[in-house]
Amino acid sequence: MAAKKYTFEALGLVENGDDRFLSNVTHFAAKSLGAPVALVSVIQKHKNRQYIAAGAGIALEDEKDRQITLDQSVCQIVHDERAPLIIPDLLADERTMCMWSIIQYGFRAYIGVPIHSNTGAVIGSLCCLKMEPGEWHADSVDSLLRLAQAVDGIIVARARNLEQEETNTRLKKLLASRSSFTAHLSHEIRTPLTGLVGSIRLLNTMNLDGKAGELVQILNRSSTNLLDIVNDTLDFAKLDAGHFVIAEEPCDLGALATEIVDSFRALAEEKGLTLVVDDQLDGQVLMADRRALESIIHNLFSNAVKFTDTGGATVTLSKTPYGLIEIKVADTGIGIDQAHHATIFDEFEQASPRVARKYGGTGLGMAIVKRLVDAMNGEIWIKSEIGKGATFAVSLPLERAETVPHQADRGWC
Ligand code: ADP
Repeated sequence: MAAKKYTFEALGLVENGDDRFLSNVTHFAAKSLGAPVALVSVIQKHKNRQYIAAGAGIALEDEKDRQITLDQSVCQIVHDERAPLIIPDLLADERTMCMWSIIQYGFRAYIGVPIHSNTGAVIGSLCCLKMEPGEWHADSVDSLLRLAQAVDGIIVARARNLEQEETNTRLKKLLASRSSFTAHLSHEIRTPLTGLVGSIRLLNTMNLDGKAGELVQILNRSSTNLLDIVNDTLDFAKLDAGHFVIAEEPCDLGALATEIVDSFRALAEEKGLTLVVDDQLDGQVLMADRRALESIIHNLFSNAVKFTDTGGATVTLSKTPYGLIEIKVADTGIGIDQAHHATIFDEFEQASPRVARKYGGTGLGMAIVKRLVDAMNGEIWIKSEIGKGATFAVSLPLERAETVPHQADRGWC
């Protein structure tokens, strides 16, 4: 792909004040060629000027010190001829002898080589100037060409940075529009699905006989799974788009955990699992975002039940010695390999394709939990080994509430 063309302004070559990197090159050029002055200049034909981007041995405090009209510019010759230029005596060369810029500064000997933009086009020169006429050392052109390559490298690096920034901005826009589309779609699906799940749950409580009863149970399980996936997608899209604010409201964490654990009892019974809530907070009401806490516990506990085939799962609520509230979800299930502990909280990450195939899921639950815990200034850690169950512990800085909790629905607005 052809390199993208950038303006001198964007590349920081004009109107950019003192350019440290280019300035370093000019200082080195002056030193190595034994010249009092060295310049990096660009030629702007449409503005009829040579613009000095950086210089050594010359005062460039004022913007006007950096600009020379093209009829006064020796560097323009390097630019136009696209080749190194050596003039041993500027006052003896008919191309330069009448230039007032030369006479004004007292320059006599010139050596310059082309510099290039990231597209490869010649854009100006790197030059050295002496106050006495005379031949330049035999190595001078070679040394200057090497230093000009350093200038070209700086320009290429700047163009790459600009390209990278443009790509990042484009990607950010794309991701933002994707997540707002996902959020919108999930919302549209969730509303009718919630009605469907509610009706099926009601049907299920009617204890229908025979085939109808069996079918309603299947419908109940499948529609609940589907609602979980849609909820995860919607929650994640909202978190991802930054469309959530952590609220503070009185919340009975023990009651919330019991409610969530109870919603898994029917499934646990089918699998023969024991579910326990160990509430060591003694009904303390805390100031917290109830929906965020619900999502955290629900996601951790649904995994605990999902990935456990024998034994059970426990939610323990307690206070740490440092005054933090700890929510611990432990199970006796398949466990997680140490190698996956660090990546488990990345979106769409599942410990292994084999596990994902067997147990299903979106790989979003843990990412939601991590983002919510971060947003609440908390910490989460895992203790687990393959075949030895898993324990997730979340610690949160939550204060005690003075008032009675109020109930709210799942989901953020
Ligand atoms: P999924 O929808 O796949 O459950 P999650 O983000 O909730 O996505 O979990 C990511 C992965 O972490 C799971 O696919 C599973 O491999 C692993 N995992 C999470 N919790 C447990 C657990 N309690 N026991 C074993 N593996 C777990």
